Amino acid sequence: MAEVTLPDGSRLEIADGSTAKEVAEKIGHKLAEAAVAAKINGRLCDLSTPISGKAAVEIITPQDPEGLEVMRHSCAHVMAEAICALWPETKLVYGPTVEDGFYYDVDLDEPIRPSDFERIEQKMREIAEADRPFVRRQMSRAEALEKLAADKYKTDNINRAKGDTISFYSTGEFEDLCRGPHVPSTGKVGSFKIMSVAGAYWHGDPTQKMLQRVYGTSWPREKELKEYLERLEEAKRRDHRVIGKQMDLFSFNEAGPGFAFIHANGMIIWNAIVEFWRSVHERYGYKEIRTPIILDEQLWHRSGHWDNYKENMYFTSFDERGYAIKPMNCPGGCLVYKTRKHSYREFPLRVAELGLVHRHEASGVMHGLFRVRQFTQDDAHIFCTPDQIEAEIIGVIELTFELYKAFGFEDFHIELSTKPEKHIGSDEIWEVATNALREALAHKQIDYKVNEGDGAFYGPKIDFHVRDCLKRSWQLGTIQLDFSMPERFGLVYTDRDNTEKTPVMIHRAVLGSFERFIGILIEHYGGNFPLWLAPEQVRILPISDKSNDYAAQVEEELKAGRLRCRCDCSDEKIGAKIARAHGERVPYMLVVGPREARLGVVNVRIRGDRANMTVEIDEFLRTVQQKIADRTTDLSSGFAFVVF
Ligand SMILES: [Zn+2]
Ligand SMILES: [Zn+2]
Repeated sequence: MAEVTLPDGSRLEIADGSTAKEVAEKIGHKLAEAAVAAKINGRLCDLSTPISGKAAVEIITPQDPEGLEVMRHSCAHVMAEAICALWPETKLVYGPTVEDGFYYDVDLDEPIRPSDFERIEQKMREIAEADRPFVRRQMSRAEALEKLAADKYKTDNINRAKGDTISFYSTGEFEDLCRGPHVPSTGKVGSFKIMSVAGAYWHGDPTQKMLQRVYGTSWPREKELKEYLERLEEAKRRDHRVIGKQMDLFSFNEAGPGFAFIHANGMIIWNAIVEFWRSVHERYGYKEIRTPIILDEQLWHRSGHWDNYKENMYFTSFDERGYAIKPMNCPGGCLVYKTRKHSYREFPLRVAELGLVHRHEASGVMHGLFRVRQFTQDDAHIFCTPDQIEAEIIGVIELTFELYKAFGFEDFHIELSTKPEKHIGSDEIWEVATNALREALAHKQIDYKVNEGDGAFYGPKIDFHVRDCLKRSWQLGTIQLDFSMPERFGLVYTDRDNTEKTPVMIHRAVLGSFERFIGILIEHYGGNFPLWLAPEQVRILPISDKSNDYAAQVEEELKAGRLRCRCDCSDEKIGAKIARAHGERVPYMLVVGPREARLGVVNVRIRGDRANMTVEIDEFLRTVQQKIADRTTDLSSGFAFVVF
């Protein structure tokens, strides 16, 4: 007999060699139906995996993130089978999962077109309906290499795979090299759709052949697929490049591909964020500096960027001296640190910089404000002693969450990346630092994912991801420990025992890039910025030109109260003026006519709301000022309105 321990701690006796599927059946028929994979002693595997001895078993369904991945990856197999059935000359390359779906890279001379998607989906439905089992078979590396000797892509995949046994999965006639695991049968790949096709080089290498990358998505139920497609439609409507143009926020020009021009309306948003960012950083004990963007090439040799990052850097020279345009702010920060002596007494030293950096990106990956070649990073460097790391990390986490929440991001997740194989620094300092990161996260009671061995060669890191209102995940902030740069730059401090020591350096960014963050905000809000960020907060709409004078008087009073407002004194009808202001996403519209003038009031309409109310000018101003100070997204509550 085998003894199985379930996640809730209960135990189950089963015949030795029973499969995970049989365990699921014992727990309940419903679970067995929903199951797509299992975790045996923490390892994700097929439901058909036999269990012997003592084992911890967890049944995985598509409701688990890992189950969803197994389902999507299996769907990629079904798509590959369908493509091979339609184009038998297809050579398959690889088919991993991505956020919200999967892709498969195929080598096929005939281009696959969007008009082919329906055919492919139809074939996939046939395969799914046949509900053929995914059957795993294993062989030695040598056997696998011999079997696939004629296939350069699969041979390459085998050479990149770890371990001595290589596995294949077949669904009837179709077979593909794969490590697995997979759903038990082709009927369990969910509700799917082919999304797009794009060119992609083999391993991203432009010297290699251009392949076709076919993207698909799949969801446990039809309803979830539908909701996802609706979210995508909504994302299209919220495209920051379109809204950016409508609201006159920013532009791009051929004169500088990847370099954003931020317009006056965009700068209002930018400056509001900066002002808020500064006030929070001041409260958290940061000082702010600014360092040059052009610095001697030698500095970048010293920092290690020359050896590791040169391809992404811009260079210039004058007076026979070579310079680099900074891709990061750290070396400049180190030079400022070195301008005077430091003592442990002044640690932790928190130094922030809104640094303008330039990083060359391939033109193919540029996308509005999301991917640019020049951006402003909300950077900071913290210099401290090893025993201060944990408290500093806690401080950065608190600051980060406070900033995110102010923009309405409530759904975040965190990833911790640990020591990679190639690294500098002693195992001891790695352990101290990684433990400090873990302890800080535990202290804040934050769940996080661990990416083992994924840290930078110079130190472990934490990444912050937020979900916007369309459930899209964005990596924004990062906290990175650095055991390399302080030594490279000879940074020291005098410790308690009067000896000179090397400080710990923590790099951190919260919003990441201002340009990108503003792009994300545009889509998150769909252009309906909260009051404190809205470029135009109030528009005053006189009913006719007889009320233009009163409208001007209201404008003056609101401007004196520092509200961003203007009058629409065009000779259009009031209905058209209101519609335009709604369309231009102005939070408040104040309709004024002879009656309002006589009583010293305004008739307030609120963006996205049909109702209106009459409020005294002073009362309106005070309430709106308070809302701006609170950075609230609530436009409607709190007005004491006048009833006639
Ligand atoms: Zn597979
Ligand atoms: Zn840095």
